[in-house]
Amino acid sequence: MTQSRSVLRVAVLAPLRGLFDYLPPLECSPADYAVGMRVRVPFGRSTRVGVVLRCGARPSVAEERLKPVLEVLDDGRPLPADLLDLVEWAADYYHHPLGDAFATALPAALRAGRRRAEPGGYRWRLTCAGSAVDASAFARAPRQAALLRLLNGHLQGMASDAPVFPRGALATLRRLEAKGWVERRPDDPYVTAEPAQDPPLPLNPAQRCAVAAVLGSEGFGAFLLEGVTGSGKTEVYLHLVSDALSRGRQALVLLPEIGLTHQTVERFRKRLGVRVAVLHSALAERERLRAWCAARDGDAQVVIGTRSAVFVPMPRPGIFIVDEEHDLSFKQQDGFRYSGRDLAVMRARQAGVPVVLGSATPSLESLHNALRGRYQRLHLPERAGGARHPTVRVLDVRRQTLDSGLSQTLIEEIAHALSRGEQVLLFLNRRGYAPALLCHECGWVAACARCDALLTVHRRERRLRCHHCAAEQPLPAQCPACGGLDLQAAGQGTERLEQTLQERFPGRRVLRIDRDTTRRKHAFRDLLDQVHTGDADILVGTQMLAKGHHFPMVTLVGIVDADRGLFSADFRALERMAQLILQVAGRAGRAEKRGQVLIQTHHPEHPLLSPLITEGYAHFAEAALRERTQAGLPPDTSLALIRAEASGSELPRLFLEEAAAVGREMLPQGLHLFGPVPAPMERRAGRYRAQLLVQAARRSDLQRFLQAWVPRLDLVEKARRVRWSLDVDPMDLM
Ligand code: ADP
Ligand code: ZN
Ligand code: ZN
Repeated sequence: MTQSRSVLRVAVLAPLRGLFDYLPPLECSPADYAVGMRVRVPFGRSTRVGVVLRCGARPSVAEERLKPVLEVLDDGRPLPADLLDLVEWAADYYHHPLGDAFATALPAALRAGRRRAEPGGYRWRLTCAGSAVDASAFARAPRQAALLRLLNGHLQGMASDAPVFPRGALATLRRLEAKGWVERRPDDPYVTAEPAQDPPLPLNPAQRCAVAAVLGSEGFGAFLLEGVTGSGKTEVYLHLVSDALSRGRQALVLLPEIGLTHQTVERFRKRLGVRVAVLHSALAERERLRAWCAARDGDAQVVIGTRSAVFVPMPRPGIFIVDEEHDLSFKQQDGFRYSGRDLAVMRARQAGVPVVLGSATPSLESLHNALRGRYQRLHLPERAGGARHPTVRVLDVRRQTLDSGLSQTLIEEIAHALSRGEQVLLFLNRRGYAPALLCHECGWVAACARCDALLTVHRRERRLRCHHCAAEQPLPAQCPACGGLDLQAAGQGTERLEQTLQERFPGRRVLRIDRDTTRRKHAFRDLLDQVHTGDADILVGTQMLAKGHHFPMVTLVGIVDADRGLFSADFRALERMAQLILQVAGRAGRAEKRGQVLIQTHHPEHPLLSPLITEGYAHFAEAALRERTQAGLPPDTSLALIRAEASGSELPRLFLEEAAAVGREMLPQGLHLFGPVPAPMERRAGRYRAQLLVQAARRSDLQRFLQAWVPRLDLVEKARRVRWSLDVDPMDLM
């Protein structure tokens, strides 16, 4: 009698719903396989990597038709249970194929099915002699100079496969090695620890209160730590992390992409004196794997990372921290659209430990959770170290003559600050020279051929660029419609502002910081260095300037155009603008000098802008929450958005109409379907886009509906002819 062999149910790393059954690998005993193991399986005509999720399942098809697993990877070492639980929960919540959720959650090396996931390799590092070399003396060997400079910024050395090494770097590095300026070091398998150098600061009363509240929580507890920039939130995190470490636990700290800087990591490392694993998008795959393994094995006590670090396994988690929790970068915007912040809360719940969400400008979602009693609110009302809040003033620019968007008052205040030897920061969230080019003779405007959008003028590079797709073209000398020569750049971008200021304040150094001026590696850091050494008088920038950086010499902040966020198709635009304004304002006067913030607007009496300015973010947020509730919008309701796109304009709408018809048949009370409607920018990069919105008063009802509805969408006839995706808790409706 043949004994029925137990069947393995596998999440195959592919964007397909459902699990797949396999027989155990040949010549294996049941002791050789278990839940969580990575395996290679036959799939169609090729093979795929998968993760075993159930053992001993009853087969869903006749056993004769099942194929055996080809091999067990990692010598049978399973993925940790906390990771499996989290990914399964997340795939379920976001209604995303489980295999693809694993593909997102795992480092690429594990995804690719390397037999054994072990980091190896070596690092390049400057020798003492190399650090003493003056790279700028190498005009004739620019590649060598560039690499010396690069390594100079990474004193721990850089992994040989780091993506920032330019093509052909190896030959140059060998040449430098022959000169004795750089050396190869075997890769330290873990992120090295240095003994703690910085003593902890004595906490002020508000910080003490916050720390005590978190430490006093038994098991899981979610805390919303509200404190303006500079109020000492990071100091609170450091105390909490250090407490977890003292109990032999690990800590996970999530930061927005732009907030994860060398300085932040160094601050943790120097204070805590433990192994810190760092995870962000610019890492080489091997470095990522190394950090992942170090966390999994408990060798890295602290993990600091961006969104995807929420999936790093840790055997002994003690605390989870999400800084700048309102930041949009925590939500993945394609593929598996998860929120790293929300998953961090879920993970803390699963682990039974506290989670702290920190921000100067909390998201309305988190405030809502706090008002409902799900999160406990903690406040840090004052700036730590004695710096005072800046004063905020609205400049009503109606009927004023503006010079490239600058009012007379703002220009005078800039002149005053400069004459006192202080720095000025001007915020304009629009890069390029001007957002439009038009013909003064016939009215033609330069539009993108592939998007419903205008082209932006980039004057220095003499290009027209679309900021929504990769399209670009040379700046025309005459109008393509009428041949006229009077082409005018309309509106302001940072490049134009920079030029105007340069003309207005000759002899002053104007630095522009936006995506265009920071494209080169390390350009951002170089620019920041110039700001800090006082080598700049006026900073002009986009939201890159708003986040995480300290500019102690800036005393005047000007918000050049507050009006853009006031009227937008996206209901979150206002919240975002308020957050940006406050984040930028937080840059001013951090040291002993009091800062001033001037906000230019045509709508000084806007019902939400004025509470923001006169009474602060908390009042703004309350008013905004009331408005959302009246409109039936999140966080008072829950949303899911189905987006569809195709190269023709009809198909997305037809697919969504069918999807809506299926949905309406099964729609329970309290749920609403809106649409389909064209996306706010219907055509983008040559594809037409439409969307369908599901709104529910209760999250659990939405979940139950999606559970039933989403699998049926795959069966809708047009589903194969469009590209469609589901976004649960969408962060924008664009
Ligand atoms: P945030 O994270 O809220 O921006 P930080 O923790 O970075 O604030 O603190 C801002 C500044 O104040 C830092 O320079 C920090 O060293 C200092 N600081 C924080 N807490 C204290 C304290 N209790 N006593 C003195 N200085 C402090
Ligand atoms: Zn014309
Ligand atoms: Zn375009």
